Amino acid sequence: MEDWRKIIKENINMKNMNTLKIEAIAKYYSEPENIERLKDCINFAKKNDLEIFILGNGSNIIFSKDYYEDTLFINMKNFKKIQRIENKIVVEAGVKSKDLINFCIKNEISGFEFLAGIPGSIGGMIKMNAGAFGREISELLDELKIFDINSYEIEWIKKESIEFKYRELIGLDKKIIIAGKFRVSYSSKNIIKNKVKEFLKIRKKKQPSGFSAGSIFKNPENNFAGKLIEECNLKGFSINDAFISEKHANFIINKGNAKGKDILKLIEIAKNKVKNKFGIDLEEEVKIV
Ligand SMILES: Cc1cc2nc3c(=O)[nH]c(=O)nc-3n(C[C@H](O)[C@H](O)[C@H](O)COP(=O)(O)OP(=O)(O)OC[C@H]3O[C@@H](n4cnc5c(N)ncnc54)[C@H](O)[C@@H]3O)c2cc1C
Repeated sequence: MEDWRKIIKENINMKNMNTLKIEAIAKYYSEPENIERLKDCINFAKKNDLEIFILGNGSNIIFSKDYYEDTLFINMKNFKKIQRIENKIVVEAGVKSKDLINFCIKNEISGFEFLAGIPGSIGGMIKMNAGAFGREISELLDELKIFDINSYEIEWIKKESIEFKYRELIGLDKKIIIAGKFRVSYSSKNIIKNKVKEFLKIRKKKQPSGFSAGSIFKNPENNFAGKLIEECNLKGFSINDAFISEKHANFIINKGNAKGKDILKLIEIAKNKVKNKFGIDLEEEVKIV
């Protein structure tokens, strides 16, 4: 790649690329337009011995550093097509859940309503096996289009060849999700709209507003992380501009200028208190970068 600066930008502030709104500078950052440019990015990273981090909508990540010198951040936002093929839809990784829901309403496609209000991209939601109201995105998935960072091969793989767990997908290291193929069912516009409205209403009632990354911890078996943290009297506890939400103790909110390290400190305190009081190890759902 001769003129890499056309594809890779330097010293980009990623504050608006994560829903916690943490400031972090990427020495190398790219928003490839297509597979060819994605390959150029991977070449660049390999040549310069850089780590690769794939960014979706940044709604489940915590930037722990102020400056990333040895990582190339690849934002998949330009992979944003949705195609309908018979009784399936192919949704590219950068499509946001909101846009998918709007597409479903317009085309009278039912089944995706529970994803309303999850502020992720399809790539991130598949990678995290996002879910709500007792459902998970993997239930709707048929096949996955992936790009192999080592071999540069692109292939469609069946859902059965991957292991989906609670907020986790096993066995896709060194692979980039390019698209997902989903089964669809049909309903009327009004029924779909009403379901979406209902889910959004419940969310609004239960979840705090403000800059967050959603649930910080996975729920331990037969328990709720938020309840355990609340019972350690940590609601409202803060470090600088980061605080544990009064409304839902599994959410950490950035009042404006929180740093990644403030949030990590709160995570450590919550984990220690819950371990000491209940003997339970909380496990992060969020990805710490
Ligand atoms: C207010 C709020 C509410 C939320 N509610 C829910 C909820 O109800 N249920 C739920 O499950 N989650 C919830 N979340 C968390 C979050 O939205 C989900 O985990 C979502 O799936 C993350 O998607 P993303 O595109 O933002 O991924 P990112 O945060 O950008 O990335 C998450 C991980 O996926 C990887 N990744 C992203 N795109 C790709 C790709 N194309 N290929 C390979 N890897 C990729 C990243 O490298 C990273 O490891 C909530 C978050 C917020 C802020």
